[in-house]
Amino acid sequence: MYNRILLKLSGEQLQGQYAGGFDHARARWIAEQIKPVVASGTQVVIMVGGGNYVRGAQIAGGGIGDVTAHNAGMLATLINAITLADVFNDDGLATRALSTVEVNQFVDQYTYRRAVSHLEKGRVVVVGCGTGRPFLTTDTAAVNLALEMKCDVVIKATKVDGVYDKDPVKFTDAVKFDQLTYDEVLANPDIGVMDKAAIGLAAEEKKPMIICDLLSDGNIVRAAKGEAVGTRLVV
Ligand code: UDP
Repeated sequence: MYNRILLKLSGEQLQGQYAGGFDHARARWIAEQIKPVVASGTQVVIMVGGGNYVRGAQIAGGGIGDVTAHNAGMLATLINAITLADVFNDDGLATRALSTVEVNQFVDQYTYRRAVSHLEKGRVVVVGCGTGRPFLTTDTAAVNLALEMKCDVVIKATKVDGVYDKDPVKFTDAVKFDQLTYDEVLANPDIGVMDKAAIGLAAEEKKPMIICDLLSDGNIVRAAKGEAVGTRLVV
C-alpha cells in the first residue's frame, strides 16, 4: 500500500458522458472510487486537467497570445478543481481544492504545508492551475507535484487500461504492456500516453507511474494498494 498517491484526472474524464463541461455523476462516481483509498490510509492528491473547457493550444492565435491562451487553460483546470471538490464533499469525501496561482477569492493558494496539513486530516487535496506557468500541461504539473509532495506514485487515470503497442481503439491486435521503461516510452513515437516533458521529468527523478482505466470499478484502489493494474512505467 502506498502512503501517498498523485492521481491525474484529465478534463476528458470529468466531462464524462458529455462532449465538454462537467459530468456531476462522473465526479460522484470518482469520489466513490477514492473513498476506499482514503479509508485504507493512503493520502490522495489530485491534479486536474482542463481540456473539458479549454486547452491553450485550442484558442491561441487569432489575436489571443500564447501566454493568455495557456492562462485560460489553467483557469479551466481551476474550474474543475473547485467543482470537483464540491461534489466530493457533498458525497461525503472530505476534500479541499487549492490553486497554484493566487485567486484567494475563489480558493486557498497551494502551499506544500497547507496541502500536507489537509492530507494529514484525512482530506483529499485537489490542485488547480497546473504548475501556474504557461507552455506546460497538467501531466507535467502532476509529475512535478508528485515530486514536491513526495507521492510514491503518479496514477494517470485514462479511458484505456494501460499502454498498448498501437491504438487499441483502431487495432484489434494491439498488445498491452504490463510494464515499460521510460526509455522505451520515449523511444517509441507511437506511445503518446503522456507528454514528453512529463515522461522526461518522471524518468529523471525515478518516479514510477501507473497508466490505468479510470472506469474499471476498483482500479484506483487496486493501484493505490500496489497491485498490478494497467501499465507501470519505471526507470
Ligand atoms: N496549462 C499550462 N500550464 C500548466 C498546466 C496547464 O499552461 O502547468 C494549460 C495548457 O494550456 C493546457 C491547459 O492548461 O492545455 C489545460 O491543461 P491540460 O491540457 O493538461 O488538460 P487535460 O488534457 O489533462 O484535460
